[in-house]
Amino acid sequence: MKKIVIATKNQGKLREMREAFASLPVEVLSLEDFEAFPEPVEDGATFEDNAILKARYYMEKTGCACVADDSGLEVAALGGAPGVFSARYAGQHGDDEANNVKVVALLAAQGLAASAADYRCVLAYCDTEGRKIHTEGRCDGFFGSPPRGENGFGYDPYFYVRDERYAGRTMAQLTLEEKDGISHRGQALRKLVAELHQLIGGLQ
Ligand code: IMP
Repeated sequence: MKKIVIATKNQGKLREMREAFASLPVEVLSLEDFEAFPEPVEDGATFEDNAILKARYYMEKTGCACVADDSGLEVAALGGAPGVFSARYAGQHGDDEANNVKVVALLAAQGLAASAADYRCVLAYCDTEGRKIHTEGRCDGFFGSPPRGENGFGYDPYFYVRDERYAGRTMAQLTLEEKDGISHRGQALRKLVAELHQLIGGLQ
């Protein structure tokens, strides 16, 4: 059976992708099934570049088809920043609180309390036969204060979703299922699974 490695160390993403790939006739592996590899340098200028470079890197390391993702926040009033720098916007990788403080401060410096914003995610698939697929998802909203909610991660407490079913709520106030239903990652994942059904179905 064809093997696909999900190239993420994030347990939440791994769970979400495993569930989505369960309908495919493939054996799903994670990086934990391999020796530890050094992390690739994510120096792409776009989410697409970074997702593809990670999928290709881990495909070469594992010798199996790989799926990798890249995602982030784009704030309109900041010209689309933090973008590919979302995880390390304030300097230290993964310091969510400092990242949020920086966005709030940069908006305040422009006299703004909020700005239109979106989350974007690109998922990339690369296999050893040279086939490549990438899909994108986008979730529109506003970045603004006050922060609300305890769920999610990253910028979620400041990200007010535009979807009218959840009007006035931040991403951090949605359940995991509600977030998966509208999120950038959920959308990119559903598109990728549909494309993989065609690709892998076509190989059998
Ligand atoms: P990565 O794609 O896991 O490297 O995520 C990049 C960064 O984008 C994260 O560290 C967060 O700061 C931000 N980000 C991506 N997706 C989300 C989300 O769903 N909620 C909140 N922040 C996110």
